[in-house]
Amino acid sequence: MAKYGLPEEIKFCKKCVMPNTRPSSSNEYKHTAAREHDFIKFDKEGVCSACRFNEAKENNQINWEEREKELLELLEKHRSSDGSYNVLVPGSGGKDSAYTAHILKYKYGMHPLTVTWSPHLYTDIGWKNFQNWIHIGGFDNYLFTPNGKIHRLITRNAFINLLHPFQPFILGQKTFAPKMAVKFNIPLIFYGDHPGEYGANISIHQKGFSSEIGDKGGSSGFSTNYLNPDEKPEEIFLGGKSIAEHIKEGVNYGDLKIYLPMDQRIIKENNIEFHYLSSYIKWVPQECYYYAVKHAGFEANPMRTEGTYSKYNSIDDKTDGYFYYTTYIKFGYGRATQDAAQEIRNHHITRDEGIALVKRFDGELPRRYFPEFLDYIGMTEKEFTEIVDSFRDPHLWKQENGEWKLKYKVS
Ligand SMILES: [Zn+2]
Repeated sequence: MAKYGLPEEIKFCKKCVMPNTRPSSSNEYKHTAAREHDFIKFDKEGVCSACRFNEAKENNQINWEEREKELLELLEKHRSSDGSYNVLVPGSGGKDSAYTAHILKYKYGMHPLTVTWSPHLYTDIGWKNFQNWIHIGGFDNYLFTPNGKIHRLITRNAFINLLHPFQPFILGQKTFAPKMAVKFNIPLIFYGDHPGEYGANISIHQKGFSSEIGDKGGSSGFSTNYLNPDEKPEEIFLGGKSIAEHIKEGVNYGDLKIYLPMDQRIIKENNIEFHYLSSYIKWVPQECYYYAVKHAGFEANPMRTEGTYSKYNSIDDKTDGYFYYTTYIKFGYGRATQDAAQEIRNHHITRDEGIALVKRFDGELPRRYFPEFLDYIGMTEKEFTEIVDSFRDPHLWKQENGEWKLKYKVS
């Protein structure tokens, strides 16, 4: 039996370079090492759902004029006349959140409050972009930094138990937005890109979420993660360990609460709604980048991001690279695959160019912040490597002359 519920037969999308081992959606709060994942769907022609999603965007399957009208109606419903905030935009000041907040404020006349769940370890360029977002873009912002000791501890646990060092960040960020929305009485939350763009199993026709609509599992980074009234917080998982276990080991429940999902009743009572801007206006990631450069002082990294060839995707956190690296170990595809697939779908590169980039960069271990990352999770390189290797599934990996090689490669 393959680990993580990996598909028996490994296939690559005929249009992009994505394998059918890409996890699609998950309830991270049930995340234990033994958990099986859902994976991206391929159709009969061997094309992945993310490619089909992007085709639908282009081939007049969506009436974008109609969608913009719907957006205006939605915004009209929430517009305030007393100067109070009327939309919450969570983000770090990367290109997508910078774009989303700016369009909502300066094109559609909304008054956003931006909120940021701080990265574990800001990169210099990430911090600069965050500052530029506020100072050049022109926004009010709440920057929340979680307890560093606890965050380190859960990150270490998540690495050891799940090989998923980004999990505490994802969970914290996901539940932070609705908490802030309740606190400031701003029921409308806007994210940028729809997770279907990248292969989550959510239809392009689904524009938003509320506790009524569901998506309880949570797709990729947002949506209504909540606790049903009959669920007990002690039974959910964080870093591959139940809350009850954390408490038994001496962690204070109060210190974990910021990572836990909200009670569904509170989301309901406050009529919290989640939407993606890319459901309403045609979303081209590269255009978001150019827009964010022009209007919010966004800067790409002067150097290539390790593990890929791009310079402007997820560059604000020093741990990002290890998230993609661990994905490569568990699922056999890395950061270059992710970037190339997206650029092929948006016609910036051809599939052949994508394959060449994947061959060249996928799975490269990020060395730039390695000592800092090891120090953060309290580990030696030897321990890191041993844990990494224990998560390789023999279905995906073989050893040749002492080196790990993937059994399946895109071609
Ligand atoms: Zn595809």
